Amino acid sequence: MPTTRPMRSLEQSRLLQLRAEQFLPGGVDSPVRAFRAVGGDPPFIVRAEGAYLHDADGNRYLDYFGSWGPMILGHAAPHVVEAIQRAAANGASFGASTPAEADLAELIRSAVPSMEKMRFVSSGTEATMSAIRLARAFTGRKFVIKFEGCYHGHADALLVKAGSGVATFGIPGSAGVPEETAMHTLALPYNDVAAVEAAFEAHPGQIACIILEPVAGNMGTVLPQPGYLAALRRITAYDGALLVFDEVMTGFRVALGGAQALYKGEIGGAPDLTTLGKIIGGGLPVGAFGGRAEIMNMLAPLGPVYQAGTLSGNPLAMAAGIATLRHLIDRQSTLYPQLEATSAAIADGIAALACKADVPLTTNRVGAMFTWFFTPQEVTDFASAAKSDTAAFARFHRAMLDEGVWLPPSQFEAAFLGAAHGEAEVAETLRAAEQALAAAARHA
Ligand SMILES: *Cc1c(COP(=O)(O)O)cnc(C)c1O
Repeated sequence: MPTTRPMRSLEQSRLLQLRAEQFLPGGVDSPVRAFRAVGGDPPFIVRAEGAYLHDADGNRYLDYFGSWGPMILGHAAPHVVEAIQRAAANGASFGASTPAEADLAELIRSAVPSMEKMRFVSSGTEATMSAIRLARAFTGRKFVIKFEGCYHGHADALLVKAGSGVATFGIPGSAGVPEETAMHTLALPYNDVAAVEAAFEAHPGQIACIILEPVAGNMGTVLPQPGYLAALRRITAYDGALLVFDEVMTGFRVALGGAQALYKGEIGGAPDLTTLGKIIGGGLPVGAFGGRAEIMNMLAPLGPVYQAGTLSGNPLAMAAGIATLRHLIDRQSTLYPQLEATSAAIADGIAALACKADVPLTTNRVGAMFTWFFTPQEVTDFASAAKSDTAAFARFHRAMLDEGVWLPPSQFEAAFLGAAHGEAEVAETLRAAEQALAAAARHA
């Protein structure tokens, strides 16, 4: 079937990539942006609005990535832009406290009550790194359990069997991480309670915390199986270890209160610590970690755990976060059901088209977060995700891009949509997918 639109020109993007490569390794500031996993030239984005990105050659893309998650209200949402502009006019940074920090913290705590106290940082990486330090200090223990395929940023101790870009590149960890640093990180398969029990038996009284993505997104979307989160809560509480939910991706995404709200019935008690990022910064660099007050009060200046940041709680970032969260909180009763319905229409619509095109596809979805794994098998952990046909995904990705639809540039990443995706976008996506699935089915 002929495609309905002319092939994109990427001439400007190619020139910009060559220029960038002269100054930046690989031309990028974050590796997956180079598109190595899917091939083709990475378009350079110059502008975005609502659900659409515009590249340097004048091509327009329907965005299912939202800057890796933050842009749940769509790009350049007018009230967020206005809030940032207003804050900028008052000065970009003071290195002193501002009223906005408590304002954003109060909004977050209203949605995520387990975060009795919190501290802002400038990235998700800093949030998880600091949460681990705090968990070790609070428990006086060294070991940390993480799960294969879960990504918690690029801090040394957590860059062990991480998903996301690390999975994409097939690097087991990273060069430059000393064994001694990773030695106290135990990487276990996701959704496997027996593995966790065995680790606690092998290291009794030595495990400071379990950190996990309560809904995994960085190996592609993988849901916790029924009873899994409850088991982790029970095991950690029994042993005196902390349970840390890394909700940098899922916070304000899978539900207003994140995965801990979605699975509240199951986990009963909340996690001890939570990390946030992405959406809470509305597109500006923000992370946060928080939890039980008695744990958080161990931070300097109240306690012995040192943690600091020149730009932490930055006024522009706080303003963007406040504008974003106020909008989400005020409209939660209509907005989250709308996100759920739109993503169901897209995820299920494409699953049906794949079935018709005889392309084996497994769709994992929760709220406005989903992944099409190019495998007929159920995907419940990193090993099953890794069975996906990544070459077929790459063909699908390139064909979707040619059809004007922007998907995450790796099989092992979640796709996102936001409030700016409506019925027209659903229709456009399904039309594009019909073409792209045919391309994915064609063996290179
Ligand atoms: C994105 C992400 C991080 C890292 O956040 P950065 O802001 O990129 O440092 C950590 N954990 C999870 C679950 C993430 O999705």
